[in-house]
Amino acid sequence: MADILRFADKLGPAKIVQVYEPSIDLKAVLVIDNISMGPAFGGIRMAADVSIEECIRLARTMTLKNAAAGLSHGGAKTVVYADPKMPKPEKERLIRALACALRNFREYVMGPDMGTDEECMAWIKDELNNRNVTGLPAEAGGIPIDQIGATAWGLRHAIEAALPYCHFPEACTLAESRVAIQGFGAVGKNAARFLIEQNAILVGAADSQGAVYDPEGLDVNKLIRLKDAGKSVVDIPEGEKFPRDDIIDFDCDIWIPAARPDVVTEENVHRLKAKLVVEGANIPITEAAEKYLHDQGVMVIPDFIANAGGVLCAGMEYQGKIESEVLEIIEKLIRKNTRLILEESRTKKITPREAAMNLAVRRVERAMSFKRWSIY
Ligand code: NAD
Repeated sequence: MADILRFADKLGPAKIVQVYEPSIDLKAVLVIDNISMGPAFGGIRMAADVSIEECIRLARTMTLKNAAAGLSHGGAKTVVYADPKMPKPEKERLIRALACALRNFREYVMGPDMGTDEECMAWIKDELNNRNVTGLPAEAGGIPIDQIGATAWGLRHAIEAALPYCHFPEACTLAESRVAIQGFGAVGKNAARFLIEQNAILVGAADSQGAVYDPEGLDVNKLIRLKDAGKSVVDIPEGEKFPRDDIIDFDCDIWIPAARPDVVTEENVHRLKAKLVVEGANIPITEAAEKYLHDQGVMVIPDFIANAGGVLCAGMEYQGKIESEVLEIIEKLIRKNTRLILEESRTKKITPREAAMNLAVRRVERAMSFKRWSIY
C-alpha cells in the first residue's frame, strides 16, 4: 500500500483515521485536515466508489471553504464505503456504529454529504448524547439545508456576481442565459429552481441515469417532481435523451457540475461549450482542466467559493441562529467573495482558483501562526 503521508503538505492533513467494524461490514475513513481555525466541519459521504484520496482532497476543500467563508472552523471529511440506497435499518446501524467509532474525535463536527441526510445526523446526535452535529432536521434543532436550498442559493448569487466578469457578447444578466446542470439532487434541482426564477433557461440536466437536452428549455418543476418521486431526469417525455456523461457536450452559457468529483479532466475538457462554470460539486474539475478553461477564456468559480452556502448554513446552525437569517448572509458573503477573487484574478492575471487559494490559505496560515504546534 502506498504511504498515506505522501498527501501531507504545509496545511495537513492532521489525522487520517481508518474505521473498521467487521461484524457489520463498516468501512470508513475520517480525514481531519486542519483544525487551527477551530473544530473541523466535514460531511459524511456514503458511496460504493469513495477512496482515501477523495476523502483527503474533500477535507482540504473544507479547510479552504471554511476559511474563505470566515468561519472559525477547520476542515474534515468522512467517507463510508457503502451503497447509500441500502435498506434503512442497515443504514441506521452503519451510521450509529460510525458515530460510536468517532466519538472521541471531539475536534470533528459531523454533518451530511452525498448519501447521508438530516435523518442520519439525528441518529448520530442521539447516539452521541446530544453532542454537536450539523445538518439536523428542524425538529431536532437544525436548519434544513437542502430543503431551503442553501448551497444552490449561494450558487445563484455566485453566478450573478460573476456574469459581469465573463466574456459574454451580450448583456450580462441571468435572464435568457442557457444553463446545463450535471446532478439533479439537493444542489442541482434547487439551483435550477432559483435560476429559472430569474428567467434563465434550463437547457440540459443529468443524473446518474442519463441526460436530457432541450434548447427550448426544460420544465424544471416537472423534473423536480420526477426526482422527488424517485425517478430520473430522463423520464421526462420532452427533450432529447443522451448517456449521462454527454451533458458536457450540451450547448449552453453556464455549466454547473453538481454531482461527483473529477467529472471534467484533461481528456474531456475541450468538449465544454459554456463561458461560465460554477462548481456546485466539490472538486468536480481537475486542476489541469481548470487551467485549460481559464486559458480559453472560460471563467470557473471554484467549489470552495461558489458552494459555501451549505457550510455557512451549518455554521449558523452550530451558533444557534435561525433559518430566516441564513439566506441573506449566504447571498452577501458569496457575492462578496466571488467579486473579490475575480477582481484579484483580473488584476494579478491569475486564475480565480489561485486568487481564492490566496485568500483562504492566508487565513489558515495566520491561525496556524498563533499555535504552539501550528495545527494542534
Ligand atoms: P445528492 O445526492 O442530493 O444529488 C446528487 C445527484 O447527482 C443525484 O441526482 C444523482 O443522480 C446525480 N449523479 C450522481 N452521479 C452522477 C454522475 N456521474 N453524472 C450525473 N449525475 C450524477 O447530492 P447533493 O447534496 O446535491 O450534492 C451534490 C454535490 O454538491 C456533491 O459534490 C456535494 O459534495 C456538493 N455539495 C453539496 C452541498 C449540499 O448542501 N448538499 C454543499 C456543498 C457541496
